[in-house]
Amino acid sequence: MTKREEIEGALLSGMTPQQLFDAGYNPGSIGFCVSRLSTAKLVKRPKGFIGWLGRAQRLSILRRDSYTCQKCGAHGNDVELQIHHKDHNKRNNRRSNRIAWCKRCNFEEGQEYARGRVLAKAESRESKRKEAIGNTVQVDRSNTSLQDLQKTAKGVTSFMKDLVDGMKYTGLDT
Ligand SMILES: [Zn+2]
Repeated sequence: MTKREEIEGALLSGMTPQQLFDAGYNPGSIGFCVSRLSTAKLVKRPKGFIGWLGRAQRLSILRRDSYTCQKCGAHGNDVELQIHHKDHNKRNNRRSNRIAWCKRCNFEEGQEYARGRVLAKAESRESKRKEAIGNTVQVDRSNTSLQDLQKTAKGVTSFMKDLVDGMKYTGLDT
């Protein structure tokens, strides 16, 4: 018998999700079975079930990780534990993606991640700017028509605009 069959059997015989959770079953599997059986109108979905499931899943992660920060090892009553998403996607709530971290580790890593993203953006702007310089410098002076000159002027204007934007952007970043 699979775990899901066991859970479904227990739910059908009248056990509550909480009782199954206390018996050590994975809340994700309990949620799956409750939703399947309630859709089929075989059991009633308990009131406030989604909220319960969220709390049970959180508790189950903390329990799995022995109520200890999996980054720095902090634990105890004065340590506030949070759930960290390894891939930084808060919608990816798979057990394998969620891990217990203390508030400090979670905050510091979040800052570092945000910094990395800002830098990556700035770098991509920088490379676009370099590209713009390359485009504007390539002018054949020996054979330049008025039209070409106008094109170049446009290129320089947009380059200047990029430059000013970039300076503003960098200023904001400090
Ligand atoms: Zn920590």
